[in-house]
Amino acid sequence: LIYPEMPKHSLVVLIGPSGAGKSTIARTWPASQILSLDALREVVSDDAGDQGATGDAVAALHLLLEARMRRRLFTVVDATNVTATAREPLVAAAKRHGMLSIAVVVATPGSVCIDRQGPRPANRTVPKDVVAQQHQAMVASHRTLKSEGFPEIVFSDSLCRLLPYLERLSG
Ligand code: ATP
Ligand code: MG
Repeated sequence: LIYPEMPKHSLVVLIGPSGAGKSTIARTWPASQILSLDALREVVSDDAGDQGATGDAVAALHLLLEARMRRRLFTVVDATNVTATAREPLVAAAKRHGMLSIAVVVATPGSVCIDRQGPRPANRTVPKDVVAQQHQAMVASHRTLKSEGFPEIVFSDSLCRLLPYLERLSG
């Protein structure tokens, strides 16, 4: 599989710590196909970085995902998704409607993810220890993805594999 050419009836679950490049990868698909947890945090609270809005944003994401899966529409979930608990309802929604779940592991080194927090606006900066924790969880996830219901697992180092496609987009 070479993304973004993925099967039409797929749910793409991006997995990676803050700063890994998930939203950058997500933007290679049309905006209507992306369910972004940050965007939904902003929808419910006016602040994409408001962690207190996460519960409502997750509920909204699950509702919208169900609506799209029911229509069998190609969808990308842009959230960290580093825990099996976060991924479970996503896979379940895809399964209910016969959609293929594809995990895209954005395996950017932890140090790079941490360095990328620097230039961000204050409300979008994730503390170093939290990013490190998310990175560890992503690495640990890798062993269980198949058994969680992801028959397809794609790795992205977010530099080598995606760059040629981004160049084509801007060229
Ligand atoms: P968050 O979970 O906090 O939303 P994210 O995984 O969505 O993080 P992005 O916002 O996509 O991360 O990327 C973080 C930073 O890294 C951005 O400044 C982006 O421009 C940069 N970046 C992402 N991908 C690449 C790449 N392939 N090459 C160089 N820089 C990149
Ligand atoms: Mg993002």
